[in-house]
Amino acid sequence: MAKDYYEVLGVKQTSTDDEIKKSYRKLAMKYHPDKNPGDKKAEEKFREATEAYEVLLDAQKRAAYDRYGHTAFQQQQQQGGGGGHPGFSGGFGGSFADIIDEMFGGAFTGGTQANHAGSDIRYNLDITLEEAFKGKNASVKFTTLVCCTNCKGSGGEAGSRPSNCTACHGRGKTRYQQGFFTIERPCTTCGGAGQVIAKPCRPCNGSGRVRKEKNLEVKIPAGVEEGTRIRVTHEGEAGLRGAASGDLYVFLNIKQHKLFKRQGADILCKVPIQMVTAVLGGEIEVPTIDGGQATVKIPAGTQPGQQFRMKSKGMSILRATGRGDMIIEAKVETPVSLSKKQRELLEEFAQVGKGEKNSPESSGFFAKMKEFF
Ligand SMILES: [Zn+2]
Ligand SMILES: [Zn+2]
Repeated sequence: MAKDYYEVLGVKQTSTDDEIKKSYRKLAMKYHPDKNPGDKKAEEKFREATEAYEVLLDAQKRAAYDRYGHTAFQQQQQQGGGGGHPGFSGGFGGSFADIIDEMFGGAFTGGTQANHAGSDIRYNLDITLEEAFKGKNASVKFTTLVCCTNCKGSGGEAGSRPSNCTACHGRGKTRYQQGFFTIERPCTTCGGAGQVIAKPCRPCNGSGRVRKEKNLEVKIPAGVEEGTRIRVTHEGEAGLRGAASGDLYVFLNIKQHKLFKRQGADILCKVPIQMVTAVLGGEIEVPTIDGGQATVKIPAGTQPGQQFRMKSKGMSILRATGRGDMIIEAKVETPVSLSKKQRELLEEFAQVGKGEKNSPESSGFFAKMKEFF
């Protein structure tokens, strides 16, 4: 049984990325193989912590882990990586160097380029259950850093060419010793770019990006669920001086519906049914999620809470063709505000209709009650 990632890192489910980073850094410093040569236990701890960190720091993997635990990634493996977590193999290997690089600025692996990529952006979007059923093109508006049109992201005025930074000799990093490690940090003179610009572009102050409102259309596929996250690549914050842009993540929240309750692919609808219909049987009309109506046969003797299933009248299913079912739950309504005549009729009914045959449940209950006393 794989260990709980939160336990491994000693953080809570509510912990922020910063807290996770901090905790991982501590563990990585303590158990790093370079500091514990030949120590298998330390190596194992380091491996565990890195694996946990890798998952928890990625919002999409973390959400999947919170929801499904380790199985989220086992399934992924079985599907041959066809899902929404590209490159994740459930193991350790490939991304190991990337993580260490990010944590220690390339001190372990000798990375050369500081990271100037733009940040990812989270956008929360409320949609209705009908929209989740049908899918829609949602308009998404937010203000972020976009590539400067004046300098096309280079950060320099027209004709001004960037030259190598003299402080770091174009490396973008300076080195210093800290404890066991040689640490590399982004050069403060050039901001890690390795180059300086003699005539910085005015509109963007040489950063190559400016703050601007973005207005995008994001396709919400039919069948999305609460908490589904849609990734729009390169639509996040622009990178520094033409570096890669971050991604936009649209997090979906599905609003409560007045009539329908989603149960996975099925839809539950509690429908009030008149007492006489429940007793004698009949037909009722119910609304469906696709905007239509359906007729439901109510058999004689329907009890409160009894459910009827209508095949393929439920939600659409993400990336699949079928639909879930619609479940009608009978809410038998006791008549109120009776007229004199109605009262008389019901009294008469009670007189002639006593006994086990009409109400087996109540008769059975009273029999049990007698035994009890
Ligand atoms: Zn500019
Ligand atoms: Zn420099």
